[in-house]
Amino acid sequence: MRRKLAAGNWKMNGTAAALNELKAMKDAAKTQATDVLICPPATLISRASDTVSGSPIAIGGQDCHANASGAHTGDISGAMLADAGASYVITGHSERRVDHGETDAIVAAKSTAAYDNDLIAVICLGESLKQREAGETLAVIGTQLQGSTPDAATAANTVIAYEPVWAIGTGKVPTIAQIAEVHDFIRAELIKHFGEDANGIRILYGGSVKPSNATEIFAVENVDGALVGGASLKAADFNAIIAALDAS
Ligand code: PEP
Repeated sequence: MRRKLAAGNWKMNGTAAALNELKAMKDAAKTQATDVLICPPATLISRASDTVSGSPIAIGGQDCHANASGAHTGDISGAMLADAGASYVITGHSERRVDHGETDAIVAAKSTAAYDNDLIAVICLGESLKQREAGETLAVIGTQLQGSTPDAATAANTVIAYEPVWAIGTGKVPTIAQIAEVHDFIRAELIKHFGEDANGIRILYGGSVKPSNATEIFAVENVDGALVGGASLKAADFNAIIAALDAS
């Protein structure tokens, strides 16, 4: 009942040459069962949209401002992302929470700005290593989920991404049992808050997903796909992850 989603976050990587990787992803993207999303740097969104035109690949932003417009030098509004061809936007990535001091309330406001512009918000949550080692993981995830997810969230406008901070870009991956525990917890919390509609909200795992570990991660109940950083930069790797998700 939930469509699977393979989402790539290119972060601050890529100039025009990177569109060749996107072309190679487009050529391989014949899947109907799995949604595919690439979030390139803002400078490439428009050209990336043109590149994937006519294919099932969607393009997203990596962040948006909570306000519609105004004196916010360097920021990008939801309307600007949509205008450039984006249909999704990542909100609350841990790198934004850490580098830019984004709180749960800011993430919720940005997610609302996404909804206001018909963008699907990919809301990111994740505990630090210190919090995991202190046994605080579920409490941290519960607080972030509640504070970062607007009341207007639905299965159509929201995707949740569980991304343990210590697993992002480190090659370290939680055990399958740890991933299952957090995803089951997020599903239960969503249902508590939003009722049965929350069964349709997709929950992605993110943190060092690679072709070699994708199959076992995608076999976990309540893992509806992945948010992928490093391995989404190369078509060969990302296409293999998409294939693993398709087969799951
Ligand atoms: C991410 O940036 O969201 C991420 C999961 O990165 P990586 O796959 O490189 O760990």
